[in-house]
Amino acid sequence: MSAAGAAGAAGATGDDTAVDTPRPMVYGVASALSPMVRRIVCRNPSVMTGPGTNTYLVGIDEIAVVDPGPDDAEHLDAVAGCGGDRIRWILLTHTHPDHSPGAAGLKQRTGAEVLAFDDRDGVDLDGTLGDGSVIEATEFHLTALHTPGHASNHLCYLLNEERMLFTGDHIMQGSTVVIAPPDGDMAAYLASLDRLKRIRPPLRSIAPGHGHVIDDPRAVIDGYIAHRLEREAQVIDLLRARGRSAITDLVEDIYADVPAELHSWARLSVWAHLRKLADDGLAEGDGLDDVWSAA
Ligand SMILES: [Zn+2]
Repeated sequence: MSAAGAAGAAGATGDDTAVDTPRPMVYGVASALSPMVRRIVCRNPSVMTGPGTNTYLVGIDEIAVVDPGPDDAEHLDAVAGCGGDRIRWILLTHTHPDHSPGAAGLKQRTGAEVLAFDDRDGVDLDGTLGDGSVIEATEFHLTALHTPGHASNHLCYLLNEERMLFTGDHIMQGSTVVIAPPDGDMAAYLASLDRLKRIRPPLRSIAPGHGHVIDDPRAVIDGYIAHRLEREAQVIDLLRARGRSAITDLVEDIYADVPAELHSWARLSVWAHLRKLADDGLAEGDGLDDVWSAA
């Protein structure tokens, strides 16, 4: 899930003209992104999913699918049609409804095993993956990295041979990510972003759960972190100025330039910031509907 309309990470480079305009996405057709990776976009566009959910096929002889998407027959047929019984693994970045429910249908079509961090949200797994788990195929290795923040059970997958990272909803192209407590956790999210910067050798590209491939991972990760810290500073400054405030009132001020229909998501985001500020000893409060105060 994303928050379209919130500040995009690309703008954080300070050069809006540098934002590239990749080819438009076509539903149901595999497009080759690299020697080893193909992408099929599911036709589930929305304000939360951007153009739709990206399903990636990694490998040629043996294939790992990253995020089958929702239970959408047309999409699953396209993925199965592309990989057939060479699909051996169905890997989930997390169990949210735009990423994981297609696992059962794709397994039915291909016989592949379904793997994820855990089996929350009604997903049936054949096995679990933890931080550092490796999927070993003849041509490639995918290493799972536990990246809590958007969801506590979120994994990214690193394609070692190409230094490409599949980021699900941890990082997406063209917008920021929703951090919705209590499962979403802003402090964990920032730590997970920071961790990606320290991967060696460094990442060459990011294949997000929504949007196009990102070719400047470091700049985008830096932009994501800067954006969150800026928002955090806005939240605490405003709370200090007011002394006490409900989250709704903070949102009205901070997100004045964001369409009102996104304010329910913005409330969750401000709540996530406040919970981190409370952990840091700077704010007092607990719930989404509480009146919060500066500490
Ligand atoms: Zn998503």
